[in-house]
Amino acid sequence: MQKLSNPTDIARETLKQLTMRRVPPTPDHYESIYHEIAGTSDKDKLHPAIKELIASIGAFPRQTPELQRNIEQLHRHAGQSSWASMPALIIRSIESQGGQTELSQSWADLIRDLIRQWELRNPVYTPSRKQDSLEKVLINFGSDGNALNEKLSALVKAWGGSGVESGENPEVLGLPDANISSSSSNSYASTSNENNENNDWREWRDALNVALTVGVESRLTHNADLQQEATDLAAEVATVNNSASTKKLMPRLRKFWLRLELQNDQEMRLCDGLMGLLRLLTDNISEVVIEDEWVRGQVAVVQAIMAKPLDMRVIYDAEAGLKEVLFKQSQIKHNLVETQTVLKNMIATFIDRLSVMSDNTDQYHSKISVYTEQIQQANNLSSIKDVLESLLGDTRSMQLDVRRSRDDLLEARSQADNAQQRILALEQELTHVSEKVRTDQLTGALNRRGLEELFEVEAARALRNESPLTIGLLDIDNFKKLNDSQGHAAGDAALVHLVIVVKDLLRPTDSVARYGGEEFILILPETDIEEAVSVIQRLQRELTKRFFLNNNEKLLITFSAGVALVLPGEVRDRVIERADQAMYQAKKLGKNRVEIAETPTGVALR
Ligand code: GH3
Ligand code: MG
Ligand code: MG
Repeated sequence: MQKLSNPTDIARETLKQLTMRRVPPTPDHYESIYHEIAGTSDKDKLHPAIKELIASIGAFPRQTPELQRNIEQLHRHAGQSSWASMPALIIRSIESQGGQTELSQSWADLIRDLIRQWELRNPVYTPSRKQDSLEKVLINFGSDGNALNEKLSALVKAWGGSGVESGENPEVLGLPDANISSSSSNSYASTSNENNENNDWREWRDALNVALTVGVESRLTHNADLQQEATDLAAEVATVNNSASTKKLMPRLRKFWLRLELQNDQEMRLCDGLMGLLRLLTDNISEVVIEDEWVRGQVAVVQAIMAKPLDMRVIYDAEAGLKEVLFKQSQIKHNLVETQTVLKNMIATFIDRLSVMSDNTDQYHSKISVYTEQIQQANNLSSIKDVLESLLGDTRSMQLDVRRSRDDLLEARSQADNAQQRILALEQELTHVSEKVRTDQLTGALNRRGLEELFEVEAARALRNESPLTIGLLDIDNFKKLNDSQGHAAGDAALVHLVIVVKDLLRPTDSVARYGGEEFILILPETDIEEAVSVIQRLQRELTKRFFLNNNEKLLITFSAGVALVLPGEVRDRVIERADQAMYQAKKLGKNRVEIAETPTGVALR
């Protein structure tokens, strides 16, 4: 929708949109559409509690694109007072932080491990003791799948000996202290006072241990020395159980923190230095390369990134963009070189022909002078007739030569003209492509920019022709698992495979765009929601026939999808959001299926 700046125009457009969208003309609706048209935000008016809530979700550790979308939706729904949809969004945000798959083991693995550990002999964890702990966990957490999984994992780990330190303690079982078995061989449990103190000890010690292994060690992969020191320290921390051993540990710990601080400082300086270098390069590159417009397009992108706070997602996007540009450019350059070679060969051939022709002309001239001489010396008619016949024959072949050369020349000129035009067109494309790339380099599907442009065109066409336009959002199922088990390159190849199958199956008027890592959007013009569902189901069936081959291993790729009919005047983000919600529903209902998006109440379908 076009942005207006004059308040009267905005107010007029708002009234128009209220009628067009057929929403009841309440003050809230008026206000929200007004803000939408004016391009202003009504987020600032949110209740402080909602702001706090959204800020806390914004601080979650796993800031995935899905979570970002959820946060945007929360803002929007809060702005529109759509309270009913908020709980689902909040639950979804929390779930995105890692469900069972992220935090603990899969049930199958867990049960396998449990049985194995159950059967193994262990002097500390006798069968009756194992039974005791298992029963406690089942009683306390039997009704909560995720917690049960987590506690059982911890239990199995303790039985296996790797968790001896934290063993069967209340933290692992997550039980209140009163539940600790008095038969525990744990040396901490003598008197209740002492027990509390020892619990404090253990909590601190375990916290430090976790801080060192999870917080520090895992971040030191680029410095083997320091990483080893962190591992050793964590091991030593685990053995600390009185003030004497703590005192012994302290100097080593202090020295470690100091080294870490120095290392951090060095890394910051390195990062600053690199940024400075990049800035210098990008600021000056346009000075160095005056001709190459396309380089400027790329540099502008990098400069825009450096102007903002660094964010991995932006860097990933920019990298993907640059790769696309480079790929296109290499293609065009290849074409350019090829065309130039053709042109050169042609000119060389023509010059050859020209020299042959001039040789022939020379021969012709010398022959003529010979004939002239013969004619002067001729003393009878028959010898003159012979000379004339030879002369006629030579002239005829000379004429043929000249005509042929002239035709060749004309042909060469038209080829040269064509080649020049092709080069010109390619050069123009080269200039454009760096700023305006519409396809995803890996899969050949449209990229986000391509999607945005196409959506505008198709939505306008659908409105004009009063024809249905449907979009489908596809998200590959368990893609992370495929990446983890087969490698990232196989993951990439799977994405390419999916797009090939999609393109083979869709009509020429349909399009596919890569919306995120393993998310795709289908744009299906002239297609109503039922047809869209059957198109996508056909696609799912096709994928069960056309396996993805990785190292001769047949792999089945499935996806979950949500379809949404684009409502008259509905903006792109809104309809994608509805399709995304439906896709999420499909995931929840067991994956590898299609769900239809809900239509907002009060909106009439076409
Ligand atoms: P779900 O069935 O719930 O969708 O699970 P999932 O594993 O597919 O979803 P999740 O969002 O947890 O993981 C998506 C993974 O896709 C994470 C990331 O490593 C991977 N990924 C994203 N972009 C690319 C890419 O360009 N290439 C490859 N190989 N992997 C990618
Ligand atoms: Mg995904
Ligand atoms: Mg997925």
